[in-house]
Amino acid sequence: TDFISLGLPAPITDSLSAGGFTEPTKIQTQAIPRLLEGRDMMGIAQTGSGKTAAFGLPILAGIMGLTGRPRPMTTRALILAPTRELAVQIDENIRKFAGSGMKLDTVLVLGGVSRYHQVQKIARGVDVVVATPGRLKDLLDDNKIRLNETRWLVLDEADRMLDMGFIAPVRAIAKAIGLRRQTMLFSATMAAEVEDLARTLLKDPVKVEA
Ligand code: AMP
Repeated sequence: TDFISLGLPAPITDSLSAGGFTEPTKIQTQAIPRLLEGRDMMGIAQTGSGKTAAFGLPILAGIMGLTGRPRPMTTRALILAPTRELAVQIDENIRKFAGSGMKLDTVLVLGGVSRYHQVQKIARGVDVVVATPGRLKDLLDDNKIRLNETRWLVLDEADRMLDMGFIAPVRAIAKAIGLRRQTMLFSATMAAEVEDLARTLLKDPVKVEA
């Protein structure tokens, strides 16, 4: 298989081949066609499996299908990650996948740094926000971001987010997003708390394993 036969549009497959990505990984082959159909997903996968592209590429394809700029203060896709380091990596990867064939606005929303630039960017409306849960919840509480038009929600390394005590902000953030969203939950392990979170946030999810 290649990325074209998984159903991804040409500008994205072009930037993948330019980046040296020719062969999809196992989780990408399983996940991408089902996510392009709009299904929710529960993925059991570790870092190194290619999970970022598995959830990121279908989101980029969906964003490409939308016309115009996002409305002010709105966010088209929200990706939550447990740590700053992971969030930075996800943002870098997503922008690399989009390449130059697609105009994409992303913003990193992390704790421990000034909110000012994050808020300024969000105010204009962005395609993708990659965030740690605490800071995102703060911005939500202060009405600095609106999630009512968000179509895609990813919880990456959900088990670590739960271990780090982010369950309350994660649930509050998910609740602020409309039910028309597509939700993807990735975790290295299938702990009882992860299952519980999946049961409440995912709708008839497809299960994939790296
Ligand atoms: P991840 O598991 O998403 O953290 O990805 C691990 C690493 O593999 C990252 O550096 C990706 O850029 C790279 N990668 C992901 N998918 C592919 C692929 N299909 N071919 C080659 N490298 C990949």
